[in-house]
Amino acid sequence: MQQELRKHLLAIDSSFGSVYVCNQCNRVHLGLGETHLMTDIEGFQSLVVLLQRAAANFELWAEDARSAASNAWNREIGHA
Ligand SMILES: [Zn+2]
Repeated sequence: MQQELRKHLLAIDSSFGSVYVCNQCNRVHLGLGETHLMTDIEGFQSLVVLLQRAAANFELWAEDARSAASNAWNREIGHA
C-alpha cells in the first residue's frame, strides 16, 4: 500500500477516471481518460463550484429542451 502514502483517492469511476490528492506535489490530480489535470486545492474548489453551476444550468437547459420537444410533438399531433 505504498501508493496510499503518496496519494489520497477522493473519487474513482472505473470507466471515467479518478480524482486524488497527491502528497508529493500537494495538488489535486484529475485523471479523465487520456486527460490529466493538476490543480492546487483552491483551483480544485473553484472547479467544483464551476461544475456545480454548470450541472444546475444544464438541468435547466435540459428541462427547456424537453418541454420544447414535447411542445413541438404536441403541435405535430395537433396537425395530424
Ligand atoms: Zn502530484
